[in-house]
Amino acid sequence: MQLQGIHHISAITGDARRNLDFYTRVLGLRLVAKTVNQDDPTVYHLFYADEQGHPGSEMTFFEYPHAIPGRPGAGMIHRIVWRVGSPEALDFWAERLALLEVPVARGDAGSVRFSDPEGLDHELVVNAGGDAPLAAEHPEIPAEHALQGFDGVRAYSDQPERSGALLEKILGAEKTGEDTWTLRGDARGGSIAYDPAPTERGRQSGGSVHHVAWGTSVAEHPRWQERFEESGVRTSGIIDRTYFKSIYFREPSGVLFEIADDAPGFTIDSPLEELGRKIILPPQFESQRPQIEARLTPLADPRAGKTAASPVS
Ligand code: ZN
Repeated sequence: MQLQGIHHISAITGDARRNLDFYTRVLGLRLVAKTVNQDDPTVYHLFYADEQGHPGSEMTFFEYPHAIPGRPGAGMIHRIVWRVGSPEALDFWAERLALLEVPVARGDAGSVRFSDPEGLDHELVVNAGGDAPLAAEHPEIPAEHALQGFDGVRAYSDQPERSGALLEKILGAEKTGEDTWTLRGDARGGSIAYDPAPTERGRQSGGSVHHVAWGTSVAEHPRWQERFEESGVRTSGIIDRTYFKSIYFREPSGVLFEIADDAPGFTIDSPLEELGRKIILPPQFESQRPQIEARLTPLADPRAGKTAASPVS
């Protein structure tokens, strides 16, 4: 049983409109689902991903309108690392982000570092593992330069070895660098790296990551819950999130982990070409649609008025 790298990453936004603009217009991701928080249907849960909404590329945001800026601290993810196709793609992004007035820094091996409008840090690196690219289509971004899905996350911890023990013994991770562990299945891999925590306490609010989900199959998902029970890891149990099933638990450094399966995906309630157009409500809220839609922040369809994306295989 091997986890297939990162399934999705969920974060918080205090400004859904600006968030939508940044992740679709600037970064070129596709809005693949516009739904509501299952625990509070008056606010959005937005999903950005590649053209098909594949696990491995899904960045999601819970909206907390007007949330003050958050701050990553011990036990929190502080940076999201994405893959691109080549060193030329890194140069393309450094130039594009600068043109769009997003401050950029270059890191190791030419990586491109920047923050979203609420201070959530991102880094682009060249896809070294050879995993299939998971890319969306965008009129200003050549296909060969598009983001290709997640490479990993970086979290803060002063005792990464405690997390490492759980990662290796229970989750099947391999140590692949200093305080870095990789979870790799037959299709994809992704990593988590730990950096020393700042002294200031973290604050979970706008621009901070809520959790990272690691991917598995529908068949193996219940077996992970059995493994956690046998190993004494306390979890949420299996929760149905409509697009996939989830198990949540906190790893020893404090980062909230989720194990998510790969079905049924976003086409459960929209055909592929319609993804992200309509507000999706969990069945129990469908009868209250007019009242719920009236309370949500109006969001323009980022692809409205553009010709339909070309067919994808
Ligand atoms: Zn999740």
